[in-house]
Amino acid sequence: MENMEPVIGLEIHAQLKTKTKLFCSCPTEFGAPPNTNICEICTGQPGALPRMNARALELAAKAGLALGSRVNEFSLFSRKNYFYPDLPNGFQTSQLDPPICEGGSLAIALEDGSRKTIRLNRIHLEDDAGKCLHDARLGATLVDLNRAGTPLIEIVTEPDLNSSKEAVDFLKSLHSLLVRLEVTDGRMEEGEFRCDVNISLRPKGSDKLGVRGEIKNLNSFRFVGQAVEYEIRRQSALYRDNLPVRQETLHFDSVKGETRSLRSKEEAHDYRYFPQPDLPPVYVSPELVERLRESLPESREDALSRLSALGVYEGRAELLLDRPGALAYFDKAYGVYPDASRIFSLMEEHLLPLCWRDSRDPLSAPFGPEKLATLARLMEEGLAGRRSVKELFPEMYQTGSDPEALLKAKGLEQISDDEAILAIAREVVKSHPEEAAKYRAGQDKILSFLVGKLMKLSRGRADPKKASGIIRDLILHDEAEKS
Ligand SMILES: [Zn+2]
Repeated sequence: MENMEPVIGLEIHAQLKTKTKLFCSCPTEFGAPPNTNICEICTGQPGALPRMNARALELAAKAGLALGSRVNEFSLFSRKNYFYPDLPNGFQTSQLDPPICEGGSLAIALEDGSRKTIRLNRIHLEDDAGKCLHDARLGATLVDLNRAGTPLIEIVTEPDLNSSKEAVDFLKSLHSLLVRLEVTDGRMEEGEFRCDVNISLRPKGSDKLGVRGEIKNLNSFRFVGQAVEYEIRRQSALYRDNLPVRQETLHFDSVKGETRSLRSKEEAHDYRYFPQPDLPPVYVSPELVERLRESLPESREDALSRLSALGVYEGRAELLLDRPGALAYFDKAYGVYPDASRIFSLMEEHLLPLCWRDSRDPLSAPFGPEKLATLARLMEEGLAGRRSVKELFPEMYQTGSDPEALLKAKGLEQISDDEAILAIAREVVKSHPEEAAKYRAGQDKILSFLVGKLMKLSRGRADPKKASGIIRDLILHDEAEKS
């Protein structure tokens, strides 16, 4: 319906990058045999006392600082009560009021190039539940508690998003930032970054919120886009037919591409939140806030203006910020050989496409930033031509071989020595006397034919800029000698 607009808010769960769980020292590693990373605390045995993981607290506060949130000096853990077979405590340990961080924002780029600020409501700490696994062979449901007690932050936005594209762009940008901060590893296929989407429709221009549906647990950007689109269509149809939109919790079936109702949505009071008596208030000292603030990497805006000052074209520099590792790689290479635009174009044309293909952080590529810096220098010194780089880059990337050695071994180092090029030019002129004479007679266009012959004779290795000057001088100089 054209007169309605979607209003979308997100609740994002990110698994914090800690070695151990939120309230015990069990490892958080993924993929261990079922029920091996458990203890009396994370399985909720009577009398077991939780202890707060200090690293988790730091990472939550760090995320808040990077997002411009206010970090509360004191916050509280509460019990959020509900029954699930994979929730052995019978409650989730979460934060209701006050949470560790409040407020903050993150901007997204709109189609017209402007930026839109998406406000955050809060960030709070909580622990994850275990997993139920349905075993068709046994005809039974099994419980694996390895994930129970894993530390999460939940980031809750205000309902500031108005399309599936805005929601997906926001999530990508948040994911990239949190990974860059090393707050999370962000492996979505392992559920380390997942989100719930609240969505409602309202008449355009209205500031009231409509009745919303909440789609739970989406763990891919594509599913978020599809689920939001489907839900907009579903709710629009209800409004069009004058049917009631109910507040409910929905599951997105990624195979069918549609949402279906799980249950009518509960309100906060249904959880009977109350302060968790086993844990003291969470304390974040001003000194810790200061230390974390100093440890933050530069913001997106600062990084873009710095790159622009180095001569990397602004519209393209975003490439270095969209995924983890690329900017750090660039900075390292630039530190070794300060030619920003050449390093950027080597990364843009050659390195990054291969890294993205392999889902690899550029910093972990065998062809490290020092080697890319060497390659940039060889090009600048005229020892490596574009064509050889194009030919050899996939091999350098795979094996991490030294560019200088590899060019030599393949006989592809660029010929930029004047004498060497002159020798080839002489052969060309000797075997093409008619064309040389035509050029001498003023047919300028024939020069590119002769340069082409020279390049061919050098097997593409002659520096093309020098080649053209040298062969021109040779022909005209010969003329001068004859007359
Ligand atoms: Zn444990």
